[in-house]
Amino acid sequence: MYDFLIVGCGFAGSVLAERLANAGKKVLIVDKRDHIAGNAYDYYNKEGILIHKYGPHIFHTNSEEVFSYLTNFTEWRPYEHRVLGSVDGQLVPIPINLTTINTLYGKNLTSDEVVDFLASKAEQRKPVLTSEDVVLNAVGKELYEKFFRGYTKKQWDLDPSELDASVTARVPTRTNKDDRYFTDTFQAMPKNGYTDMFKKMLSHENIHIMLNTNYKDIVDIIPHKKLIYTGPIDTYFDYRYGKLPYRSIDFHFETLDTENYQQTGTVNYPTSNLYTRITEFKHLTGQVHHKTAIVYEYPKAEGDPYYPIPRKENQEVYNQYKKLAEETPDVYFTGRLGTYKYYNMDQVVAQSLALFKKMTKEDDGTQY
Ligand code: FAD
Ligand code: UDP
Repeated sequence: MYDFLIVGCGFAGSVLAERLANAGKKVLIVDKRDHIAGNAYDYYNKEGILIHKYGPHIFHTNSEEVFSYLTNFTEWRPYEHRVLGSVDGQLVPIPINLTTINTLYGKNLTSDEVVDFLASKAEQRKPVLTSEDVVLNAVGKELYEKFFRGYTKKQWDLDPSELDASVTARVPTRTNKDDRYFTDTFQAMPKNGYTDMFKKMLSHENIHIMLNTNYKDIVDIIPHKKLIYTGPIDTYFDYRYGKLPYRSIDFHFETLDTENYQQTGTVNYPTSNLYTRITEFKHLTGQVHHKTAIVYEYPKAEGDPYYPIPRKENQEVYNQYKKLAEETPDVYFTGRLGTYKYYNMDQVVAQSLALFKKMTKEDDGTQY
């Protein structure tokens, strides 16, 4: 008899498996894929280059709790991600910063002057409700068209006006020369990769892992007291309130017979090509190799669910599932798909740590 059956070996499931096992619980964790680590899975390709199977994963967080928790399972390699955008035939920093403006407009503005420049372009929007409002409010129509409209259409197959403000609000506007993609306190990559970190997290005598296993095939056979589910919540409930939409991506990998391919980890293509961005893994991993590996991302509607789509009508459907989830005894829902939230890795870790604490309080019988 297991205390917990956990569905999904990604961050959401693995953090809970580790916490619960550490607290003396017997855990069975399953994944329908043939590997652990969920969408953070990385591996060495046939040329020996470390790549991320489900697209580039860059770790960053402001949470000391999350960072120090993960430090139990990995050493870190400091890494600050930088992104260039291919716009008007030039490569310019994204997020838009002082250098971006000066390069695109052939100017030599100071930080103070660029504040006025952007204010003269910005279109005031009140209230700021959509992803279009966010960008027009900050930089105006011209830069919106150059950087956001086309990219967003490719990524989501929606106009920014059809998406919650939170989506484009992930990308700030800067008036200084800071060209880092993230400004979080902790920015680092697991030194030996994500999969290695997950292996350490899950290597506990109280954890049993089953891969290539859909939980539906074993849930009625293997006795367990409680279930933790980190897959898509609508699938769990057999789409009772209809399908929740997700975006998927085709990843097209190439290994090139050259040591370096591009200047920064990622180059975005906001207005050209069918792919949104190209990432060169060696920037992220720090690996030294005489070849290099890159990935193109082609967004699509069907396929593995990667991105919940933040917009009101989807949230309303999710709320119905959430209510159902709350009424389902002994089953917990967590993670990016389990709670239909556009969460980064660190947010998923924080969510699972919080759920563990909540479960500890709820549990009147056994000590955690
Ligand atoms: P997942 O990793 O999706 O794990 C869920 C697991 O459940 C999957 O392995 C799945 O196979 C399994 N599962 C589902 N249904 C079943 C079933 N019926 N039976 C058994 N198993 C099942 N975050 C960052 O912080 N930084 C980044 O740079 C970043 N880049 C990203 C780039 C891309 C292209 C994508 C798609 C995401 C990115 N993320 C990034 C987000 C990150 O991937 C997620 O926050 C995180 O992986 C979510 O973890 P999770 O455990 O909730 O879900
Ligand atoms: N975005 C954009 N142009 C860019 C970068 C981002 O329009 O050059 C928008 C787009 O809608 C994207 C969102 O901002 O989906 C969030 O970008 P982020 O890089 O955080 O996406 P992720 O890494 O999660 O795919």
